[in-house]
Amino acid sequence: MRSWTEINLRRLEDNARAIKARFPSGVKYICVVKADAYGHCMPQALGRFLRGGADMFAVANLHEVSRVREIIADKPVLVLSPILYDERHLVFEYGATPAISTMEEAHHFDSLSAAVGKVLDVHIKVDTGMGRVGVWHEHAAEFIERVLKFKNIRVAGIFSHLSSADTDEQYTLRQVGILRDIVSKFDTSDMLVHIHNSAAIDFVPVEPPFNAVRVGLLQYGINPRGYDTDGRGGIRQVLSFKARVAGVSQSGGHKTVSISAGYADGVPAGFSEGAYVLIRGKRCPIVGRVSLDECFADASALDEVRVGDEVVFIGEQGDEEIDLCDYSNWTHRIPWEAMVAIPKRVARVMIR
Ligand SMILES: *Cc1c(COP(=O)(O)O)cnc(C)c1O
Repeated sequence: MRSWTEINLRRLEDNARAIKARFPSGVKYICVVKADAYGHCMPQALGRFLRGGADMFAVANLHEVSRVREIIADKPVLVLSPILYDERHLVFEYGATPAISTMEEAHHFDSLSAAVGKVLDVHIKVDTGMGRVGVWHEHAAEFIERVLKFKNIRVAGIFSHLSSADTDEQYTLRQVGILRDIVSKFDTSDMLVHIHNSAAIDFVPVEPPFNAVRVGLLQYGINPRGYDTDGRGGIRQVLSFKARVAGVSQSGGHKTVSISAGYADGVPAGFSEGAYVLIRGKRCPIVGRVSLDECFADASALDEVRVGDEVVFIGEQGDEEIDLCDYSNWTHRIPWEAMVAIPKRVARVMIR
């Protein structure tokens, strides 16, 4: 193979188990698997997340629900983004739980449910400061009250998304306080109330009224607050990204290797200063321009290097490890973006 990622499914399962074990037993673990499980092969990942204790799944759209449903029949699947008007009738077929934030959605889902003779579970999405999606918090209590009166939809949850839990603790705590105040006006004993994402579970206690967490990035072994491996509380990086030495050339006292992955394999064209790969357990700086099918590294530090040697962009080799956070920094991206940016051309290898 010229380039491949390795998905360590055992670590994925261990991470899920470690996450689940962090919370009191009543807290539901909403496992976020949108975007092909952040590029980790959703179909394979789902089974491991189930074994690790996931109670519920969350995706971005109905198309992703349909993929989850091919594998998991009996767990709720929450759709985090608004569902397009013409697609709404499909929630019954797919068994999806929509997130709603407008009266228009409430009316429409209520009448669709009535037409099929069902009561549909929905979660209400509250905007506590992100300023993008959800019912604005100042109108949220009134909105919830009105939605509670509908006969054919059931408010099964109330939630909000944190805009900057990885960078701004004060602002995050303010968002948490806003949602807490809103839900205090209601009997939420048979609802899920959730706001935590991966970054927030580090510093925002999971305590009533909150009884569920939505975890994405951390499951894949990356702490968005940038801790090193030891600080992740038993969580380990799941994804590795590798290629091979395709050629070796010597000139001017330097040994340069070409590597069998370029920007068509997701290696970004603009690596920053300080970026390196691992070859034979040593750091070799990226040099020159990344081309469509290859890129280059200075391998002068190696006594010996051969065509076919393994090259690590992300992952472990010998005693060295390249953290996905470092890789994403070198490529001027956030870790979420680096994870999903490895294209189909790159083979996916499952490590059991
Ligand atoms: C993607 C997403 C999450 C997961 O966030 P992580 O930071 O990856 O844990 C949680 N909630 C919502 C609404 C999301 O869209």
